[in-house]
Amino acid sequence: MTNYDAIVIGTGTGGGSLATRLANAGLKVAAVERKLFGGTCLNVGCTPTKALVASAYAAHLARRGAEYGVAIEGRVAVDMKRVKARKDAILAPRQAGFEQWLRDTKNCTVYHDHARFLSPHEVKVGGEVLSADKIFITVGGRAAAPPIEGLETVEYLTNVSMLDIDFLPPHLLVVGGSYIGLEFAQMYRRFGSEVTVIEMAPRLVPREDEDVSEAIRDILEKEGVHVRLNAKCIELGRRGHEITAGLDCAGGPPAVTGTHLLLATGRRPNTDDLGLEHAGVKLDGRGYIVVDDQLRTNVPGIWAVGDCNGRGAFTHTAYNDFEIVAANLLDNDPRKVTDRIPAYALFIDPPLGRVGLTEAEVRKRGRPALIGRRAMTDVARAVEKSETQGFMKVLVDAASKEILGAAILGVGGDEAIHAIADLMYAKAPYTVMQRAVHIHPTVSELIPTMLGELKPLQP
Ligand SMILES: Cc1cc2nc3c(=O)[nH]c(=O)nc-3n(C[C@H](O)[C@H](O)[C@H](O)COP(=O)(O)OP(=O)(O)OC[C@H]3O[C@@H](n4cnc5c(N)ncnc54)[C@H](O)[C@@H]3O)c2cc1C
Repeated sequence: MTNYDAIVIGTGTGGGSLATRLANAGLKVAAVERKLFGGTCLNVGCTPTKALVASAYAAHLARRGAEYGVAIEGRVAVDMKRVKARKDAILAPRQAGFEQWLRDTKNCTVYHDHARFLSPHEVKVGGEVLSADKIFITVGGRAAAPPIEGLETVEYLTNVSMLDIDFLPPHLLVVGGSYIGLEFAQMYRRFGSEVTVIEMAPRLVPREDEDVSEAIRDILEKEGVHVRLNAKCIELGRRGHEITAGLDCAGGPPAVTGTHLLLATGRRPNTDDLGLEHAGVKLDGRGYIVVDDQLRTNVPGIWAVGDCNGRGAFTHTAYNDFEIVAANLLDNDPRKVTDRIPAYALFIDPPLGRVGLTEAEVRKRGRPALIGRRAMTDVARAVEKSETQGFMKVLVDAASKEILGAAILGVGGDEAIHAIADLMYAKAPYTVMQRAVHIHPTVSELIPTMLGELKPLQP
């Protein structure tokens, strides 16, 4: 048995940063990774998808060249082998760099194997047993395959296998009309596939407000993505080389037929093969590790960081989890999860930037609120770029004048939202930003204008 001060299980966004920070603080650390150093974001999540989104954007803009006065002779063709090669070239140095970073960190020993608890302080890694007083579980999650009728009869792709393909699926069926599914759907449509999105809910990204869902649907349908909603009971089957998805079991067909199937129906935590029962670590009903506001589990000396604790599903929340744990353990700074304001983006084009509460959530609070809304057609920069789809809206507490939440669906929305997020962190009234002078011409410049026109939110 080898004894360490700390064992970090998983080297994704949360684990990698935590292992190196603890080691640099002088702790003897074991960092254990069973698969790809750098975890989901770097290898099969944010980085590769955003690289592909960029290629898809280039294809889209090339097709629109004439609108800008740019003549492109002949058809715009996408070479999927080169698209994949570009993505791989972006990943390769980062992947190698991440592993090297861990291996080069003094006091940090790297294990490349699966970790499994034997007791609250012992972990089996391959043939070795490691022990430590402090253990950090940062095992992330993986694509979930829900019990869809007939799923076992068809081949399907996930966010992982989707990144390996270097050809154009003639007709891609995407089951799941939420964040991951929609990024792939628009991307492949722009590469040249026929794409059908199948969503069980009555609207796309059902966690967002209805106007946001509607605008996103409009954006995608204008590009030729087929959207099938209310697919209450999806049934999959084969028809020759093709895959059919029945959309309504009770009513029988209509069915839609495609050549490839991407399952984008959510994620599940990697907590089922960790031996957590030997450590006594409590899980919730969906398999997420239950943690307190400082990310401690119910077992003293064991923390859970990142996607596996169910308190966030993003790289920035996993990184913030690391910061919270490190601040508490090393800096005597009692940071906590509830200090965090929810913020994220949906990286279709144009992107959706979101922070704080949705309009529906503000309504549910039942307290007087104000709302401001502007179309992207009002944004000079969007007009100049001929990218005027979408809108921005903001919700404000009528009494405190603090911003409660905002959505910017439009060009630059993923960046511009941060101005609002920062004002929320400052707990400053919206009037501070209303009087701020923003640079012209930018998307951000319309935020003060929108804040100057707030109206009571009608029940
Ligand atoms: C397609 C896609 C696109 C995404 N895009 C974005 C985006 O644009 N922006 C954003 O903020 N987020 C995005 N995300 C989410 C983001 O990738 C995750 O929130 C983030 O990677 C979580 O980090 P983590 O450290 O919690 O876990 P992970 O990065 O998943 O790392 C966990 C690591 O633990 C390892 N592991 C698991 N079990 C064991 C074990 N028993 N023993 C040893 N090692 C183990 C895994 O192999 C993995 O390397 C995306 C996700 C997907 C799938």
